[in-house]
Amino acid sequence: MAKILTVLYPDPVDGYPPRYAREEIPVISGYPGGQTAPTPRSIGFRPGELVGCVSGELGLRPFLEERGHTLVVTSDKEGPDSVLERELPDAEVVISQPFWPAYLTPDRIRRAPHLKLSITAGIGSDHVDLPSAIEHDVTVTEVTYSNSISVSEHAVMQILALVRNYLPSHEWVTARRGWHVADSVSRSYDLEGMNVGVFGAGRIGMAVLRRLKPFDVELHYNDVHRVPPDLEQELGLIWHADARSLAAAVDVLSIHAPLHAQTVNLFDDEMLATMKRGSYLVNTARALIVDRDAVVRALERGHLAGYAGDVWYPEPPEEDHPWRGMPHEGMTPHVSGSTLSAQARYAAGVREILECWFDNRPIRQEYLIVEGGRLAGTGAHSYTV
Ligand code: NAD
Repeated sequence: MAKILTVLYPDPVDGYPPRYAREEIPVISGYPGGQTAPTPRSIGFRPGELVGCVSGELGLRPFLEERGHTLVVTSDKEGPDSVLERELPDAEVVISQPFWPAYLTPDRIRRAPHLKLSITAGIGSDHVDLPSAIEHDVTVTEVTYSNSISVSEHAVMQILALVRNYLPSHEWVTARRGWHVADSVSRSYDLEGMNVGVFGAGRIGMAVLRRLKPFDVELHYNDVHRVPPDLEQELGLIWHADARSLAAAVDVLSIHAPLHAQTVNLFDDEMLATMKRGSYLVNTARALIVDRDAVVRALERGHLAGYAGDVWYPEPPEEDHPWRGMPHEGMTPHVSGSTLSAQARYAAGVREILECWFDNRPIRQEYLIVEGGRLAGTGAHSYTV
């Protein structure tokens, strides 16, 4: 019987369960391109419930305990005395969410000789050291597409919030009890007519492009995989051979590539300097793709007009992280991919992966990042090591 160690974010400060705003969520059975939503044999929660926090347990406990497995759920993940460190040495499966990542470092993987399977409840497995997973034959999986549309909606929201100066205007009329129209509009523009680009036109990046098309903007992208010509034509996409050319061409840039060797620290002082003065940068991919302090500098000197996103490093970030207080930001905690709608899909996907694992059935190719000591499935398409 296996031990499944699950690291989830803490419960709401007002207690669990929360009082839900809505009774139900729409049923989503498939994604653009034809991939089906998760198809587990059964689920242990009601779609729309908060299952991503510790008490929610991704709805897994009855399923795992009926089969005789041990489920440990914790949010205590940092430091040598943490529950994660204590429970890891005999765990077979680690489940973690990018919103509260259990960083599986080379050292931790070395000290987990029974670890066979890592499941990301969501998308983005950079919190697992992939070379170590390859070396130690740990299968790494994620629930591909489960929250891609969720993130694309958040990115579009943050683009509009920055360009239209939404958050400061909101603050003038609520927290500051004012009616300061001139102050609110003096940094406010229309998105219409601007050049908007995505770095990484995979599931999320393409969904952002599709959602922005009706805003009558010029759409640009860079990706190592160029999209089919008919799709470029349908959306009027301008392709760039590299990130630098893209960055120089656009007014708004939204980052949607995974964090890996080719993308780490890509948006540094030099890259930001190639962007037009007054550009907006939105990053819902991974914080380490941008240079933290270069972003602050670019905002302070007015080169970037705004920066928004929901990804930080580390997560949770320290209280005095500079992004909490920099000018013209529209940051949120890492929430875009953990709406109640997204949770229903990624919790069902985790269940599907576990059912396959314990029943010795193959895990869907698209859920695989590492298998058999090499990059596989989506990992082979989107990552390098
Ligand atoms: P995806 O695999 O469908 O798309 C990623 C795209 O990036 C691929 O088309 C790939 O070719 C491209 N890419 C990879 N390296 C590149 C490079 N060096 N230059 C240009 N393009 C490159 O994945 P997705 O579902 O679109 O998710 C993308 C990323 O978004 C995830 O890896 C994750 O880090 C992040 N994400 C964040 C959240 C959140 O809650 N904020 C949720 C889900 C995913």
